[in-house]
Amino acid sequence: MASIFTQIVQGEIPSHRVHEDEAHYAFLDINPVQPGHTLVIPKREVDELFDLPADELAALWQFAQVVAAALKAETGCARVVSVVVGYEVPHAHIHLIPTSHLEDFPIPPRGTLDHTAAAALAARVHART
Ligand code: 5GP
Repeated sequence: MASIFTQIVQGEIPSHRVHEDEAHYAFLDINPVQPGHTLVIPKREVDELFDLPADELAALWQFAQVVAAALKAETGCARVVSVVVGYEVPHAHIHLIPTSHLEDFPIPPRGTLDHTAAAALAARVHART
């Protein structure tokens, strides 16, 4: 079964298209965090963003850069926040959200770093890179 986003690309589900090229599609999110909240996707269906081959990942971010510049110019926002989540739709996508204040994109409460645990974790992750 094709993902919701593939169905959008194929025109089976309507969307408000913002930009498109041969390999990418950008459209407005149906539940926007802010006006202009846009989703940028590869037309090829891959679940996690970081599962994309490096060249396709780079091309997606370059496509997103074009869309972000247009969103910023049109909305007059201070900053386009880019977020990758993917828990709802398993088709790689980048959220582009026009914001002018931190409150426009609430960030969950954050913890205080335990430096001993952090050093060990950083070393373990480093060993895998
Ligand atoms: P995530 O997978 O990153 O957690 O969230 C998926 C995003 O896709 C959500 O922000 C949701 O509002 C959006 N979304 C889900 N279904 C549709 C749809 O049918 N049309 C549009 N335009 N957006 C959708």
